Parts: sequence; C-alpha cells; structure tokens
Amino acid sequence: MPGYTWHREVQGKVLFLTFDDGPIPEVTPWVLEQLEKYEAKATFFCVGDNVAKHPEVAGQALAQGHKLANHTYNHLKGWHTPLQQYVDNAEACQLELEKLQAEAPTLFRPPYGRITGGQAQQLRAKYELVMWDVLTNDYDQRLSPEECLRQSIKSTRSGSIIVFHDSLKARRNLMYALPPYLDHFTKLGYTFETL
Ligand SMILES: [Zn+2]
Repeated sequence: MPGYTWHREVQGKVLFLTFDDGPIPEVTPWVLEQLEKYEAKATFFCVGDNVAKHPEVAGQALAQGHKLANHTYNHLKGWHTPLQQYVDNAEACQLELEKLQAEAPTLFRPPYGRITGGQAQQLRAKYELVMWDVLTNDYDQRLSPEECLRQSIKSTRSGSIIVFHDSLKARRNLMYALPPYLDHFTKLGYTFETL
C-alpha cells in the first residue's frame, strides 16, 4: 500500500519501537522503566481518551524523551465509522496531545491497521500514516510469551517499526517479551529511536 510508512530507511543499526493503545498506569510506567534501562526511545501511539485520563503517565513518557502520537481519541474502527466522524476523532486526539507537547508529531496510526481509502486520503494531508513491519501479536492471548518473543526477534531487521501494546490485554506477553527483546538487540549494537 503506497502512502503508508512500513519501515524506515536508516544508516546502521536503528530500530523504531512503538507502543499502541495507552497510556495507562497499569502498564505504561513499567514500559518506561524497561526503556530507560536500555536508553531506548520509543513512539507511543496514544488513545486520546487515555491521555485525557492519565496525563501524568503521558507526561512521564515525554519527560523521558519519547514521542506521543495519534491513534484516534476512541480507538475507532475505520471501516465502521463515517469519514468526517473519523477525521474529527483523530483531530480530538491530536488536540489532547498538543496540550502536553507544543509541537506534537503529526504521526497517525489507524487502530486495527484498517482505514478506508477516503479516510487515508484526508488524514494524509496532515499526518504521516505509520504502520509497521514487525507485529509482535502481544495482544493475542493464544500466543505463548515465548513464541511472541521468538517471532518478534526473528522478523526484526534494521529500520524496522515494531508494534507492542501498552494495554491490559497485551500485558502478559509484553512483560515477558520486551526486556529480552531490548537486551537482544542492544547487545547486537542496535539503538532504539523515536520515529
Ligand atoms: Zn490500537
């Protein structure tokens, strides 16, 4: 699909971690702690409603040098939402982010990775539409934590955009996989940067 970012062309060993659906106090501060241990920076695709409910958690991520980006205000399904309602919901999320970051990044990731052509066209005028090339499937309850880690490591290459979720549903696999994932690629000489 043209017009979407699936990975970044980079010089050397650079990875782009992303965390979707937070920030929430049960998971996000734990993620921040792990990232700090490895001096890793990440991009958080936030649900606007969660930013409004937990501004202190969002603020903590910003203070540690991470980026907060747009994942709609209510985690909408693009294919089930009329065009204007979808675009307005993304804008509401952006306004929430701008309360915390004077110059909020204009990066948008559609929830469920699904969006209509019309929605994409309208959003592209303002945002870079960021997808991924490594889906950890951390939210999949049928996937074992070991397999989540193994597959994530296997499909990562330089310039990869990796999706984890700072959500309750993903917590089990995330908490198992993230520390060894960071450890593995740090030891191989990779750095983790924001998009
Ligand atoms: Zn999501």
